[in-house]
Amino acid sequence: MISRVSKVQRVALLRTTEAKMESTIEQPCPVCHSASGLTMIAHTTEIPYFGEHTQLTVICDSCGWKHTDYIPAEGRKPGSWSLQIDSAEHMSTRIVRSGSCTIRLVELDLEASPGGASTGYVSNIEGVLMRFEEVIQTLQRDAEEDVVAKCAELLAELGRVRTGESSLELLLLDPLGHSQILHDEAVTRELSEEEASTLDSGPMVPVFDSSDFA
Ligand SMILES: [Zn+2]
Repeated sequence: MISRVSKVQRVALLRTTEAKMESTIEQPCPVCHSASGLTMIAHTTEIPYFGEHTQLTVICDSCGWKHTDYIPAEGRKPGSWSLQIDSAEHMSTRIVRSGSCTIRLVELDLEASPGGASTGYVSNIEGVLMRFEEVIQTLQRDAEEDVVAKCAELLAELGRVRTGESSLELLLLDPLGHSQILHDEAVTRELSEEEASTLDSGPMVPVFDSSDFA
């Protein structure tokens, strides 16, 4: 169990307006358990249209483990964001995907959940689809014939979604409420506690405790 850094320290971090702040967290690494402490870099920036965010990166100097996340300046509720992708124009739609976010491509039944190495990023929808394509291509390499065929099918469908020939629902589910799709047509709603509890919220790094941002 990782103990928690003091609340005072966290609040100070979130309020800082300095471009970059580096500090050491007296915590063992969640991966290699090295006791030499983790380095935390907090970088507060204004993400266009999303408002002020703090990018937090925690690094273990012993094994190289790294975790990045985005914390909005304003607290948010557990939420889902949905957008029906149905045109090539949607490819440039910006998204913030935090380390606690599960991404679903609904009609294809594909899901990327946080897991141990999850990292937040700011990208656009094309970038999100490319991440799925890369995973499918890796899977395809040494797979059995039927899996290879299924992968090819998925890649072809993703190609059609990119050009607007096919439609696909992009769904972000974030129990910490840090993720967003920036588009007028995107639909957002709060997650029930029950829904939020079934989602993997990623590695629990002390500074990313949901209760402090709710
Ligand atoms: Zn480590």
